Amino acid sequence: MKITQLLQEDKVTLSLEVFPPKKDTAVEQVSRSVREIAALQPDFMSVTYGAGGGTSAYTVQLAQEIKAEYDVPSMAHLTCVSSTKETVKKQLECMQEAGIENVLALRGDIPADAEFPLPDQFHYAVELVRYIKQIAPEMCIGGACYPEGHPEAVSKAQDIQHIKEKVDAGCEFLTTQMFFDNNAFYSFMDKLEKADIDIPVHAGIMPVTAAKQLGTSVTLSGSSVPVEMSNMIAKYGENPEDMKKAGIEYAVNQILDLKKHGVAGVHIYSMNKADVTK
Ligand code: FAD
Repeated sequence: MKITQLLQEDKVTLSLEVFPPKKDTAVEQVSRSVREIAALQPDFMSVTYGAGGGTSAYTVQLAQEIKAEYDVPSMAHLTCVSSTKETVKKQLECMQEAGIENVLALRGDIPADAEFPLPDQFHYAVELVRYIKQIAPEMCIGGACYPEGHPEAVSKAQDIQHIKEKVDAGCEFLTTQMFFDNNAFYSFMDKLEKADIDIPVHAGIMPVTAAKQLGTSVTLSGSSVPVEMSNMIAKYGENPEDMKKAGIEYAVNQILDLKKHGVAGVHIYSMNKADVTK
């Protein structure tokens, strides 16, 4: 099922993000987590794509499995910055063969040690959106956005203009980077509205259930950490059980507040943790 169809329903859409195995030996473990997460019956699930190519081979496979075995609509992420156009084309053909109907069109992070851009490469996600429209026009296309601005953005205003370009190119819904202060999201939504961007936006929520996540996923995302969250980590960070409970409660409170404010959808960065996601 296409995500645009789901988004027409009169309810808050719930999507859960999973990532494919980082190495072949972890396939079974990831499959187990994915099965447990699919059993929570979200509206759809999305599968990340390893920008460096490490896990990209499993993205389509997992997205297909989610749809066929668990009857949950799925979306495959696709980045373009570390690939040639030929590789992107092959990946899209694989998606089509696997019956994947939804794709999150991303640029990906520019690899620090690579020459970029090569002549046969896309520079930005908007070019990928245009390319998908050309060679796989039946696909429903989503894009990424950043309530606090993309870390490389020259200005927040320009960042919004670049989102507008993606929407004009055919992006049908947006999913945000994780944020921990809902006010950042609300102010971002106001800016989208002012820029006449009125496609549905899924609010990205990541439960921070261990202090070490601050040094990894959170830092990488560039999202700011509000005082309330720093205090929570200072208080519970040394105690894994309490930290887990507090982190889940923080995320739940964010989601309840978002629902109160009429959010179109919530996207949970599940980190393949079924218990936390539940
Ligand atoms: P773009 O939309 O291309 O934007 C990147 C930067 O370029 C922004 O600063 C933007 O303002 C600027 N820009 C855009 N267009 C132009 C233009 N025409 N001229 C000048 N500047 C421009 N990464 C992965 O590797 N795999 C994943 O599976 C993955 N999933 C993600 C899911 C979500 C929901 C999100 C929010 C991010 C995800 N990422 C993933 C991370 C993402 O790839 C990075 O954040 C990347 O740096 C930017 O990708 P983008 O698609 O937002 O890029």
